[in-house]
Amino acid sequence: MDRFEPNLRIPGPTGLPPTVREAGGRQMINHRGPEFGAMLGRILEGMKPFFGTTNDVAVLTCAGSGGLETAIVNTLSPGDRVLGVSIGSFGDRFAKIAGIYGADVTKIEVEWGRAADPQAVRDALLANPGYRAVLLTHNETSTGVMNPIRELAAAVREASPDSLILVDSVSGLGAVPFEMDEWGVDLVVTGSQKAWMAAPGLAMVAASERGWAATETATMPRFYLDLRSHRESAKAGQTPFTPAIAVVYQVDEGLRLMQAEGKEGVFARHEACAAAARAGLTALGFELFADPRFASRTVTAARLPDGHDWKAFNGAIKSHGVVLAGGQGKLAGKIFRLGHLGSVTVDEILGAIAVLERVAVEQGRRIEPGRAVGAAQAAALAVQTESTATPEAAPERAPVPA
Ligand SMILES: *Cc1c(COP(=O)(O)O)cnc(C)c1O
Repeated sequence: MDRFEPNLRIPGPTGLPPTVREAGGRQMINHRGPEFGAMLGRILEGMKPFFGTTNDVAVLTCAGSGGLETAIVNTLSPGDRVLGVSIGSFGDRFAKIAGIYGADVTKIEVEWGRAADPQAVRDALLANPGYRAVLLTHNETSTGVMNPIRELAAAVREASPDSLILVDSVSGLGAVPFEMDEWGVDLVVTGSQKAWMAAPGLAMVAASERGWAATETATMPRFYLDLRSHRESAKAGQTPFTPAIAVVYQVDEGLRLMQAEGKEGVFARHEACAAAARAGLTALGFELFADPRFASRTVTAARLPDGHDWKAFNGAIKSHGVVLAGGQGKLAGKIFRLGHLGSVTVDEILGAIAVLERVAVEQGRRIEPGRAVGAAQAAALAVQTESTATPEAAPERAPVPA
């Protein structure tokens, strides 16, 4: 397999389109010059439709978790009561950061594999009024569950109108619809290495009017992650500190590809890839981990059957060039995850399913060759047919310029 690049099917970082890779290799420029300013401006404006906001976006040089820390320290003060709604390990992390900075955190812990229930959130807020913020995970990458943020935000708005709604959409935004203004979300975080077809290194954060107002009164300590200085610098086409310029080049190019494909086209492609992944894994006899009503469109988690040792299973898959992700935290050794986000195509998912099928046959499982690939193909085609029936349908994959 060493003649080929691996089919990197982990939920970020993702494989990069050729022009994005090339963009990352460009010569450095002055990050205080007009060329950088124009590029930053394109990114800040170009991201807004994906966030569903007309408010300001900030680009920070840090991992997605740095973006989560940014959300906490810019809107909260020590002692603030915070409701952390956790459906997996990233929800736990968000709540943990708030606690470390001195927030008084109460957690709702949802059974892993399930989505948060708007009614439960409403009840928790009504039972204990006065929460300054509610922390939500949009796409819980550790379990492959996508929370219904619109409904959850509506529940918060109704039960506790003054609470800030802070959302981790590190692995969701850019791949699926998000309307932060319409849904009343106050702050959203995403990361360059997930849906944005770029290398790790940047976190993008958008805040509502209320979110930006909170940055003026919050008293948690902050310097590097202070959103006020990022907004101020952006007015001059700059970032307050030296940015990861190579990754900024890549996000600029990734965004260009996404715009060429069209937002709806990007979303439909992710939906088709997710449908293919679920159908293919199911046909192979794997039990999907997520509640099907809330299955993620960017990552699919499946249970490892009894007797399947993760290391041996993964080794066999990897020897055929497919890189899967294992389980995180308490799911280690119990599930595996197949990522389908960023520049992913249906063909790449079919390729991964073909390898899983081949390994199953080699291991003597009673699998009819081609059946899982066929099921995956059919599921993807069903989604594509649906989406091409709409007038604003866009091509299935981002056109890659020659
Ligand atoms: C990847 C991810 C993060 C963390 O991103 P890092 O860049 O690894 O810090 C946070 N939340 C979710 C939901 C993620 O998928």
